[in-house]
Amino acid sequence: VPEGHTIHRLASAHNRLFAGHALRADSPQGRFADGAARITGLVLDRAEAHGKHLLHAYGGDVWLHVHLGLYGRFDDGTAPPPEPVPTVRLRLSANGHWADLRGPNRCELLTAPQVAALRARLGPDPLRADADPSLAWERIRRARVPVATLLLDQSVVAGVGNVYRAEVLFRQAVPPHLPGRELGRERFDAVWRDLVTLMREGVRAGRIDTVADEHSPQAQGRAPRQDRHGGEVYVYRRAGMPCLVCGTPVRGATLGARRLYWCPTCQR
Ligand SMILES: [Zn+2]
Repeated sequence: VPEGHTIHRLASAHNRLFAGHALRADSPQGRFADGAARITGLVLDRAEAHGKHLLHAYGGDVWLHVHLGLYGRFDDGTAPPPEPVPTVRLRLSANGHWADLRGPNRCELLTAPQVAALRARLGPDPLRADADPSLAWERIRRARVPVATLLLDQSVVAGVGNVYRAEVLFRQAVPPHLPGRELGRERFDAVWRDLVTLMREGVRAGRIDTVADEHSPQAQGRAPRQDRHGGEVYVYRRAGMPCLVCGTPVRGATLGARRLYWCPTCQR
């Protein structure tokens, strides 16, 4: 599942390509034909992201809501677009550009009240300027469940996925199984600030890098990480390998059906 930085990058791309232009929308697959017909001719006011949810605001109280889920993806390019294939749920075109959406978990039109209801179900997003971290803290400070579980709960913090979760807990030396109510405000604030830093860097770079300069491949004389998720990380998918800071083998475990990674020495 893409993490929040990916969706914020998509929103930026869609603003760059389409904002201020009247769109043509099609559904080569047919499953979004009615929605595409309603979008066609409307001007995109803006695209934005809240956590892993992409929203397009069109005139006339029409919002497009996309959640990519596990298999969804957007591609875009300059006109002319490629021949549409039947797996394309939604094709947008305007301004000499096109964007194709395939395989989303959700692709639907919402009204403004429905968008407000969606936002109300989501926790603050570290990448949004209007995020209020105290809303996340109020949930975490009362919770008996592990901090690692809370960070993946989109109603607590929106946009954090498995990589950012593992990495921010490592960087802030928080043991992942610590109950939320034992975290403490200072550590929560440090985790939040670090998420803002890491996720902004992810938006800028288009990949997740979390390793400080002194632990980089160059500084440590080691080969760069080879992983389809890219980026230099401390613990994510490194179970059994030596911690980059202390050399202890990184631990891996399953928590709530998701893999969790941490260093038992550095995080205590
Ligand atoms: Zn360590």
